[in-house]
Amino acid sequence: MKLIDLNRQGGIGANCLFLRIGEFNILVDCGLNPKTPGLEAMPDLSRLRGVTLDLIIVTHCHLDHIGSLPVVMREHPKTPVLMTRSSRMLIEKMLHNSANVMKRQKEELSVPGYPLFTKKDVERCTARFMELGFGKVRRFKHGKDSLEIMFHRSGHVAGAAAVELHHEKRQLFITGDVLFENQRTLQGAQFPAGHFDTLIIETTRGLTEREYGRERVHEIARLVDSINETIAKGGCFLLPVFALGRMQELLSVFHDARKFGRLIECPIYAGGLGIGLAELFEEISRKTSEIHFDRRIMADLKLKPIPRALKPGKDPRTNALYIISSGMLVERTPSYTLASGLLGHARNTVGFVGYCDPDTPGGKLLKTPAGAEFSFDALGVRTPVKARVDKFELSGHAERDELLQFAVQTKARSIVLTHGDPGARAWFTEALGVKLPSARVFDPEPLKEYEV
Ligand SMILES: [Zn+2]
Ligand SMILES: [Zn+2]
Repeated sequence: MKLIDLNRQGGIGANCLFLRIGEFNILVDCGLNPKTPGLEAMPDLSRLRGVTLDLIIVTHCHLDHIGSLPVVMREHPKTPVLMTRSSRMLIEKMLHNSANVMKRQKEELSVPGYPLFTKKDVERCTARFMELGFGKVRRFKHGKDSLEIMFHRSGHVAGAAAVELHHEKRQLFITGDVLFENQRTLQGAQFPAGHFDTLIIETTRGLTEREYGRERVHEIARLVDSINETIAKGGCFLLPVFALGRMQELLSVFHDARKFGRLIECPIYAGGLGIGLAELFEEISRKTSEIHFDRRIMADLKLKPIPRALKPGKDPRTNALYIISSGMLVERTPSYTLASGLLGHARNTVGFVGYCDPDTPGGKLLKTPAGAEFSFDALGVRTPVKARVDKFELSGHAERDELLQFAVQTKARSIVLTHGDPGARAWFTEALGVKLPSARVFDPEPLKEYEV
C-alpha cells in the first residue's frame, strides 16, 4: 500500500490521507487547518493531479476533516464520498457555515482564493454523498480488483467513524478521531478486537497524561463548581467550545446539573452554529439513535443568543455563562472577542474544555502566566491576564494509553501516526517501540510517499 499525508503543514491541521491499495486510489478526509485562513490551510491537492480517485471517505464532520472536501470533489467530479448516516445529516450545515465564514474572511481580510467554495458548490456535492451504516459491509470494485469497507463507532463526535478496510489478505484499520469513554450524548468507541496488518491512528493526546483524580466525572464536577464560584462572585464565565459536539454535550451536562440543583441560576448565552446543530442533533437522535439529545433542554436552560455587539477589550459586565465558539479562541470569533474583554478582570473565568493547538490564541493563553500581558493582535487589544484561566480535561480524544493498548493488541506490522503535534507523535513512536517492537512505525512527513 502506498500512503501520502497531504496535510502540508503537519501536526493536526488539514487532515487528508491518500492511499493506493491495489488498483484503488482512496482519499481519507479532506480538511482545512483551523489555525490560519488562506490557501495554505488546505491539503496539497496538487499531488492528486492526474490521479483518478475511486473513493473519498469522510471519518467525521469537524472542519479539520471536511473543510476542503468541496474543493477536492470539484477537482474529481466523479468520485463518490462515503460517510455514516449521522455525518450525512450534519455535513451540509457544516460546509454551508464554512462557506459563509470564508466569504466574510474574504470581505474583511481579503484572503486570496477565498471562499474556497460557495453554498452552491456544496449543493452540487450532495448527490455524490453515500451513506454506510455502522457494522455494515460495502464492497467496491475496480476492474477485477475489489475491497470491502466497514465503519465502526469511534465515539469522538456524532457520526464519527473508524474505518476497517479489507483488500485481498490485507486488513487495515483507521481510527479517525476517537474517544473510548462514554459521554452524556454519545457512546464511546466500539472497536473490533484482534489483529490488523496496518493501523493508522490519531495521536492528539500523546503529550497529555491524565492525572489521578482528573477523570471525566470529576472534571465535570470541577467545571460546574468553577462556574458556580465565578457567578457567585459576580463574574462572567466563558467556555470556548467547538460548535459540533462539545456544545451539545455541555448543554446536556448543564441541563442535568441544573435539574439536580448543582448549577447556579444565571443567564446562559449560547449561539451561532452550535445551536443550529443542536436541532440537527435531535433529528439524528430520533432517526438513528446514535446519539442522545433532546432539544427541549435548550428551552429548559432558557438559552439566550450571543449579543451582537460584543465589544473588543470591553468587559460585558454580565453575570452569566457564555458557551460559544471557537473552542481554540481563533481570531475573529465570538469567543476571541469576548475573551479580550474578560481577561483583564479577576472576577471572570475562561475555561477550556478541549484540545487547543499551541499556535492558536487559546493554546497561547493557556501558556501565559497569570498577571502577564496577553495580546489579541487581530483586535489591537493588549490586556493583563487577571481572570482565572483553567483547563478541564473533557477532551473528545482518547487517552494515549488507551490508544496504545488498542494498537498493541492489533499486533499490527505497520502503524502510521496521524493527527498529532510532533511531540505527541514522538511519544507514540517511543511507546510503540517498547510495547510492540515488531511493528514498523511511520510518522509520515507531509507530501512524502511511503510504502506501508
Ligand atoms: Zn474531530
Ligand atoms: Zn480532528
